[in-house]
Amino acid sequence: MKQRGVTVWFTGLSGAGKTTISKAVAERLRSWDCKIEVLDGDIVRQNLTKGLGFSKEDRDENIRRIGFVAHLLTRNGVIVLVSAISPYRAIREEVKARIGDFAEVFVNAPLSVCEDRDVKGLYKKARSGEIPNFTGVSDPYEPPLSPTVECRTDLESEEESVNKVLDTLKSMGYLADD
Ligand code: ADP
Repeated sequence: MKQRGVTVWFTGLSGAGKTTISKAVAERLRSWDCKIEVLDGDIVRQNLTKGLGFSKEDRDENIRRIGFVAHLLTRNGVIVLVSAISPYRAIREEVKARIGDFAEVFVNAPLSVCEDRDVKGLYKKARSGEIPNFTGVSDPYEPPLSPTVECRTDLESEEESVNKVLDTLKSMGYLADD
């Protein structure tokens, strides 16, 4: 596969499936020997943005820093897979405008589904008040108005979601048969 640099930005509620889909997309791209990098919100918060909290200001700063690194990689020809809740529309738009080569993937499942999955037990803690400012429960999530791709993970299989993302990269010209 031939590739061009692009940032693929997965946004959505906790438990919607961002990490699952981005990991599977990464595996598929690696199997084609593509140069890729994964920036996962949970891991980024342990290093690049360690110390930032969950106020709007800190969430925006978190996204700005992830966007900065994604931009550096993208302009060097890497396919960058970012998975971060990124709840605020304005900062997503800012990062998108700066990077240019950008696809926004809205990983979408109803809150009730994400909460039933409760992959990391966080919704339970958010409901009990143990975790404040939890997106979808006690903090806002602003859905994309016109995402490049929408993956309805409550209605489609992981495989379908992964294929949608890869097909989009092909149709946008970021991936092509060698
Ligand atoms: P996030 O990174 O958005 O917080 P995760 O990827 O950690 O979410 O968790 C999503 C959960 O939903 C996983 O347990 C995954 O197996 C499940 N799931 C069910 N259907 C899908 C689907 N179509 N796509 C992605 N994940 C799915």
